Amino acid sequence: MIDFQKTYKAEAGMTYIEDCLNEGRTSGDGKYTELCSDWIKHRLHAPSVLMTTSCTHALELALHLMNLSQNDEVIVPSFTYPSTANAVLMAGGKVVFSQVCSEDLTLDPAKLEEKITEHTKAIIPVHYGGNLCQMDAIMTIAKNHDLMVIEDAAQGFLSTYKNRFAGTFGDFGCFSFHGTKDLIAGEGGALIINNPIYADRAAVFREKGTNRQAFLRGEVAFYEWVAKGSSYSPSELLMAVLFSQFEAADTILAARRRIYTIYSDFFQKKSFSCVSGFSTPSEDVKINGHLFYLRFTTDALGDAYKVYMKEQGIEAFGHFVPLHSSSYGRKISVNNEGFDVEEGIGHQLVRLPIYPNLTEEDIHKILQITETFMVEVTDGISGYSNL
Ligand SMILES: *Cc1c(COP(=O)(O)O)cnc(C)c1O
Repeated sequence: MIDFQKTYKAEAGMTYIEDCLNEGRTSGDGKYTELCSDWIKHRLHAPSVLMTTSCTHALELALHLMNLSQNDEVIVPSFTYPSTANAVLMAGGKVVFSQVCSEDLTLDPAKLEEKITEHTKAIIPVHYGGNLCQMDAIMTIAKNHDLMVIEDAAQGFLSTYKNRFAGTFGDFGCFSFHGTKDLIAGEGGALIINNPIYADRAAVFREKGTNRQAFLRGEVAFYEWVAKGSSYSPSELLMAVLFSQFEAADTILAARRRIYTIYSDFFQKKSFSCVSGFSTPSEDVKINGHLFYLRFTTDALGDAYKVYMKEQGIEAFGHFVPLHSSSYGRKISVNNEGFDVEEGIGHQLVRLPIYPNLTEEDIHKILQITETFMVEVTDGISGYSNL
């Protein structure tokens, strides 16, 4: 079986975990949390970084800081993970769905302006598959309408747009180190605060509404309850694992980018008639190789391909069901018209395995079996001609 996803094991991980256990330091905000946030700060040139228990929590934290009221609206792509929209609801705001571009499935700036009302407070661009949204256009629209921007860069860690890192454009940037992402803590995330006025409140909310961070920095003699808050600081054990991954980041990304290029060259060269699109980073983006997708012309073809691959021992998965069409999305959304690009995407889009431990043999097999499937489809073999 060729797995869809396999975690890269950075050797130093075990040593760092042992170090935590030997020191008896496993709760949050110790040495490894600091090593991780410093690493992000230096690598991304980010002014302020808070490690969190997940990207979901980083998003919730950012939205909480905005003090939304009941009628406030936040624009979110429909094509995303539920966490992006949940964060708006958790903070008491309204979700307004917008469309993605057909070329790269990132938020379409051309559709944004028509979604903006007097109640709009923010936009959450999602950097799908590590491919950054068109940030110049989105930031210009945000600036013209005085909107905040929270980047959902869960999949975009270390990708760049015009040589600037994902997560450093908006007021906030949110990352995920979930076990399915490029660099992992198992569960984990980070919040980048690019707008310094939010830094202190963010730190307090993350630490159960206390000023414990200021206390740890020696700025106050004791710490106490100072505001509403929750508990978003990850265990040192997880940050120990994550730091070992950061040290291996260049190796991990190089391997992913290489496979991404092999896939992309293959589909470019073959230009199969039943494939309507595949992962293609825009010119300004250097992608982290988070995922590679292809999209079929019909739902039935996408479903048949997944089954075919599975029969041949290869895991290939779909991705997000557009939120406006999901069972909860249909209940809460104020708008669900004009989502032509998103139509059928839940069936038509298929992601291929991509991770450092994928062997040459695996990659060869994936492409060979894919080609056989496509030939069978075009030649009308085994009932695929009528899909
Ligand atoms: C993975 C993901 C999340 C959630 O990340 P967690 O760290 O698991 O909370 C949010 N948004 C997008 C786009 C994601 O891919």
